Amino acid sequence: MIRTITLAFLAALPLGLCANQEVEAFMNMLEPDRKFSSYQELVEHYQQWFTTRYAEVEADLCAATHKNLDQLVQERAVLRKEYSQPYRLEVFDVASPRFERLLKETLKDFGVKRKIKIYASSITGYAAAYLDFIIVNEWRMSRYSDDVIKAVFAHELQHILFEDCLDSDHLSYQDHQEQTPRCRHMQLAELRADVFSFLKSPTYAAAVKDYFDPKWPHSPYDIHASDAQRAIIAKTICKQLVSVLPLYKRLAWHAIHAARSLKTTLGRQMTVLWGRWKGKQPKVPYTLLML
Ligand SMILES: [Zn+2]
Repeated sequence: MIRTITLAFLAALPLGLCANQEVEAFMNMLEPDRKFSSYQELVEHYQQWFTTRYAEVEADLCAATHKNLDQLVQERAVLRKEYSQPYRLEVFDVASPRFERLLKETLKDFGVKRKIKIYASSITGYAAAYLDFIIVNEWRMSRYSDDVIKAVFAHELQHILFEDCLDSDHLSYQDHQEQTPRCRHMQLAELRADVFSFLKSPTYAAAVKDYFDPKWPHSPYDIHASDAQRAIIAKTICKQLVSVLPLYKRLAWHAIHAARSLKTTLGRQMTVLWGRWKGKQPKVPYTLLML
């Protein structure tokens, strides 16, 4: 009897926690020690995984909604048109020059020629993407280094380029609980935005480690990977990117990184000493030392 109850409890656990199935599938496929012969091969490896996975999830989505893929694409196009009405932008403020400049630099790095605007707003998160513009919470973002802000913009940019920004509306509690195709479709979009922003260069992949806090609690109803998972994915991709660099660039990368981590360690030690001298716990946010 007790064993049955225990088994039933254990069986219910994964459902109760409703783990992000797409992130788990991706993490199972990640091979930190895999060697790639070129940058192209590395990028194609991830492109292939997302293409296959998207096809599977979209097939599930079609079956669940009794619609074919054309109908789903059409519905998204209607939604995009609706959202592109100019009156929707009136609620936002003009972004400050620092954020304008950082977005411009990000677009240049990604070779994006089209016009993508940026607005400031007190949104709950840090940044969000819509059809062809990004909204940033400047108050929250301003404490981060330029590299971190560019990495966040790079994530948002992927949503614009893959045109998936409007798919993330209206997920119910049950969608998460049951990991429905709709929920998994959105999880994939978030994961893809992470992976393809990291894949740009080791600088982009490494920057986010200052942004994600592995100790940050993760809501099972969040379609993003947890901070801990995002940090692992970024670290793995960074390592793979560095391994395909030509030798001199690889050496330069390691030298810059060694200098940076030394600076961080020293900075942290100084903060601790300063805190002790003042007779209280250090209050300087860790990220400020990364600048
Ligand atoms: Zn996102």
